[in-house]
Amino acid sequence: MNRIWIGHDKSRPEPKVYVCPECKEPVQEVPPTTWCGAWGQAADFSHLDGEPLCPVVTADGYRPALPEVK
Ligand SMILES: [Zn+2]
Repeated sequence: MNRIWIGHDKSRPEPKVYVCPECKEPVQEVPPTTWCGAWGQAADFSHLDGEPLCPVVTADGYRPALPEVK
């Protein structure tokens, strides 16, 4: 008897989608193309247009927001 498997493997986790917590736009796991060295080490994520994530106020001043999982 032939078995035909239809559908995807449910045991495989769905790929995570990251969004900017401020503007809710999707983000990519690519360092921003516009990054000021004074901000320290470049972020690991950027908006799809290459801009850093929206700034948020932290103890160190304005920093790009950290992405959140959608
Ligand atoms: Zn944003």
